[in-house]
Amino acid sequence: MWKKNLPLNPFYETYSESLCLTNFLSSFCLIPGRFEKGRIYTFIGEVVVSMNPYKNLNIYGRDMIEQYKGRELYERPPHLFAIADAAYKAMKRRSKDTCIVISGESGAGKTEASKYIMQYIAAITNPGQRAEVERVKNILLKSNCVLEAFGNAKTNRNDNSSRFGKYMDINFDFKGDPIGGHINNYLLEKTLMSQTPLFPQCSISDGAEFKAVADAMKVIGFKQEEIQTVYKIVAAILHLVSDLPVGVSRLKVVSIIADLLSTKSDMVEKALLFRTVATGRDVIDKQHTEQEATYGRDAFAKAIYERLFCWIVTHINDVIEVKNYDTTIHGKNTVIGVLDIYGFEIFDNNSFEQFCINYCNEKLQQLFIQLVLKQEQEEYQREGIPWKHIDYFNNQVIVDLVEQQHKGIIAILDDACMNVGKVTDEMFLEALNNKLGRHAHFSSRKLCATDKTLEFDRDFRIKHYAGDVIYSVTGFIDKNKDTLFQDFKRLMYNSSNPVLKMMWPEGKLSITEVTKRPLTAATLFKNSMIALVDNLASKEPYYVRCIKPNDKKSPQLFDEERCRHQVEYLGLLENVRVRRAGFAYRQTYEKFLHRYKMISEFTWPNHDLPSDKDAVRKLIECHGFQHDVAYGKTKIFIRTPRTLFTLEDLHAKM
Ligand code: ADP
Ligand code: MG
Repeated sequence: MWKKNLPLNPFYETYSESLCLTNFLSSFCLIPGRFEKGRIYTFIGEVVVSMNPYKNLNIYGRDMIEQYKGRELYERPPHLFAIADAAYKAMKRRSKDTCIVISGESGAGKTEASKYIMQYIAAITNPGQRAEVERVKNILLKSNCVLEAFGNAKTNRNDNSSRFGKYMDINFDFKGDPIGGHINNYLLEKTLMSQTPLFPQCSISDGAEFKAVADAMKVIGFKQEEIQTVYKIVAAILHLVSDLPVGVSRLKVVSIIADLLSTKSDMVEKALLFRTVATGRDVIDKQHTEQEATYGRDAFAKAIYERLFCWIVTHINDVIEVKNYDTTIHGKNTVIGVLDIYGFEIFDNNSFEQFCINYCNEKLQQLFIQLVLKQEQEEYQREGIPWKHIDYFNNQVIVDLVEQQHKGIIAILDDACMNVGKVTDEMFLEALNNKLGRHAHFSSRKLCATDKTLEFDRDFRIKHYAGDVIYSVTGFIDKNKDTLFQDFKRLMYNSSNPVLKMMWPEGKLSITEVTKRPLTAATLFKNSMIALVDNLASKEPYYVRCIKPNDKKSPQLFDEERCRHQVEYLGLLENVRVRRAGFAYRQTYEKFLHRYKMISEFTWPNHDLPSDKDAVRKLIECHGFQHDVAYGKTKIFIRTPRTLFTLEDLHAKM
């Protein structure tokens, strides 16, 4: 049996022997060829650290899956599958909702990791080959391909960069088989279509990938006319934002767009050039200036792209939603959530999108701190276990800088957007300077004229937990308001294509009926982040922390400085320290006895000691484990997994 083969795997030991950063990194750099040999995973407790290998490794096959299936966490070398299995087991054995949070900067390997985790879960479930379960599994797997086709883009950090955040719940029945799921998507970066060249060089694989996406859509259950509509919308977007090729008249393009969107040429033309405004009791058509018309057209293109994406997600959700699950018959329906969201990013030019993305990463880091560093230490305190507090940087101060009511950057941005009359990005920056001038994590050129890194007047800087980022205010106001003239919504609602019409329900309203000011993009995002964090915090978390070995996408290069930086800001060292000083396992005395009382004559079948705590103490001592445990007020704490394995072994022999 496996438990005989302890000691623990060497990588687990490697980290636990090392308390300083250099040693931690050494486990990658100095153990000869560790990275080169593809040993890309390391455990820190229930956190798996992953180093992007930038080459295909033969470590995700069927044989590997078999090695991890049903095993305990430390039994096999560190691997994504071990964490996936741990999350699955906790869900199945203890009926707990669990989640796997994958974090790391752009290009560090989050999306790949999420796919391997899904594949693992798919592979180990449904031994009975139930058709309905297979259907759900197939759709969950295929949905990635479709979402990536529409939501990923090439950036200079990652050739296949996710430009949206994804949280996927997988629902399991009492047998532990997937019976459904739900996808939440977060802030799609709409500008992505104007960042990439519109007609890039086609590569040989494009044809094959197009076919794969088309097949995936079919498997998911998109109807033929729906798939056609998807292509038409994509074509319409490309026509809308492309510069006119020589010899093609504007009217011709307008009529092509009108055809694609199943509406009339003159209506498209009117929506592009005019805006309906209500002045008192009158409704008039006001002609756009050239600038307004350009803004309107771009906003329209982005909006139909975003709607299309959300519609695709909704469609997938419709077909995988759990139906007819009767908890009174089948027991609890449990969930594993997998979060793959955009990583922290610094571009040469950072705008509103990077601001949101980096704020999201601050939130997730805060959750990590709460769950892994803070809670663990608080539990020791609560239980009266002698404990020397381990310090860590708490990024709550940056989270507050961004999201605090009235005082945070988002509130200041919203305030600026509320102003009547012409609001400019400069006015927003001015307000930031006035209100945040003294904040330790905020600065701008005006506030520190001597700072050479703040090159431009329109820049401001946030000292994020993961590094300093300079944002340009250009576009913040427009992107936050995210205005789309009602004329476009009506245009789409009146399309004779029912699929399109369905995507635009609010186009039904006429201009005089539109009264409510919609929430701004930043506030919507903030609300969705708060909801996400609440949801994750309600589940038992497992972490995958992805590290990028270099910025060149190279499988050979181990850039020590870059890795050191990531290890530092991800809080991995503090994580190691807490784990090292802490305990791998804890359980209330009562539950502990319930499981192990048969391995001691003093506790089996019942004990006559004054308390469960005394009984547990007796049991531990009679097996000689007293040096590896601590007794809290209500729980026993066991330092190393080895002791636990031995207990399990004894239990199994009974
Ligand atoms: P992220 O989602 O963190 O931005 P990705 O998961 O898209 O990053 O990974 C970026 C690229 O790195 C992938 O396209 C792939 O080439 C490579 N990569 C990441 N993880 C692995 C892995 N486990 N094995 C092989 N290549 C990987
Ligand atoms: Mg990604």
